[in-house]
Amino acid sequence: MVKGCHFAWSRVLIEAKKMKISEVRVKLINNKDDRLKAFCSMTVDNEFVVRDIKVIEGTSGYFVAMPSRKISDHCEKCGGKNHLRARFCNNCGASLPENRARQDIKGRMKLHADIAHPINAECRQRIQEKVISAFEEELEKSKEPGYKPPEMDEPDDEVPEIVS
Ligand SMILES: [Zn+2]
Repeated sequence: MVKGCHFAWSRVLIEAKKMKISEVRVKLINNKDDRLKAFCSMTVDNEFVVRDIKVIEGTSGYFVAMPSRKISDHCEKCGGKNHLRARFCNNCGASLPENRARQDIKGRMKLHADIAHPINAECRQRIQEKVISAFEEELEKSKEPGYKPPEMDEPDDEVPEIVS
């Protein structure tokens, strides 16, 4: 082996092991006032799909939000499950204490938890770039006559209760 090649090959191997985003599907949301611009699904390595990825218009451009669910807690009286913003129990009607949500470092209430998400900034960046460029491509396509949006079932904002 030629000297100096070793480093290059280990880099190739590291790159090969990384998750590859093989497809992104974009469903544009036509609502001019809403910051939510699209729902996307992403296929990883041709064999795993993550749905309900959102493209959101922020103050400094578009960003990607990973699929998330509303965090809930249990009523002290009956044990029923309620979202953290609920003032009364869905199950027994008891009044619930306010400010039950934990706060993040910026003091914002933590009401949602990611269902699937990257665990490092580099991967987040890769997902962001792929999804945003697919979104921008779809946006261009949508301006052409006869545009047909991709077949995707309507995403759900609510997560069904898991009966255990
Ligand atoms: Zn209750």
